[in-house]
Amino acid sequence: MIKLDNVSMAFRGRPVLDNISLDIAEGEIMVIIGPSGSGKSTILRLMIGLLKPLAGKIWIDGQEISGASEEELNIIRRNMGMVFQYSALFDSMTVGENVAFGLRQHTALSEEEIARTVRRRLRMVGLNGQESVMPSELSGGMKKRVSLARAIAINPQIVLYDEPTAGLDPIMSTTIDRLICSTRRVLNVTSVVVTHHMSSAFNIADRIAMIYDGRIIEIGTVSEIKKSSNPIVQQFIHGWAK
Ligand code: ADP
Ligand code: MG
Repeated sequence: MIKLDNVSMAFRGRPVLDNISLDIAEGEIMVIIGPSGSGKSTILRLMIGLLKPLAGKIWIDGQEISGASEEELNIIRRNMGMVFQYSALFDSMTVGENVAFGLRQHTALSEEEIARTVRRRLRMVGLNGQESVMPSELSGGMKKRVSLARAIAINPQIVLYDEPTAGLDPIMSTTIDRLICSTRRVLNVTSVVVTHHMSSAFNIADRIAMIYDGRIIEIGTVSEIKKSSNPIVQQFIHGWAK
């Protein structure tokens, strides 16, 4: 569903990603871990076409996006949702309008169908009937759930999550982890989750990729990562992450 082939990226001549190759299967939950500044958010932005790689190619569902036009990208993005680190809700819109945003942008659904979809998605994230609330009235965890409802409103094949549990208390983090898993189960979405919470990573991942210094230094299932012989991986998963 998502393929990166020897992708490199630099900002103002400073290398950030160095020959990243990654194959993510349909329905998989791929978790990306690594120290702050290691290029995790950059990988997500490349996957959704917000950035173009300096070198290498990226495919989404068999379509190459690294060379795609803005028009082609817009079509591909109809199949993708993203939950940003800082929720990025539209503060002047109600919760319902926030969730409806992509539906209005990308589909020709009637107002009735939009309202029904919004209701269903809000129910899925445990915010039944909160359509008319303003984002400023919500807690961080609730905002994150609205953001998730918005990302899945258009029924995407792929959802990208950038540190979805950052700043949340452990109970809300667990709730978000469960929602990521139920989203995969119910909608069969392919998920890429950047996190620095190792407990989240271990709870939700099919596979974990650890990125360090712009390279993938380890990739594998949870038990493979736990058994990694790479001292940097061991150090990271045993607390350096905090
Ligand atoms: P992570 O998400 O792992 O913390 P990022 O992908 O956000 O890391 O950033 C990786 C590196 O690239 C950092 O050093 C960051 O400062 C730099 N960087 C990210 N985006 C930009 C940008 N738009 N312009 C310049 N430098 C950037
Ligand atoms: Mg980041």
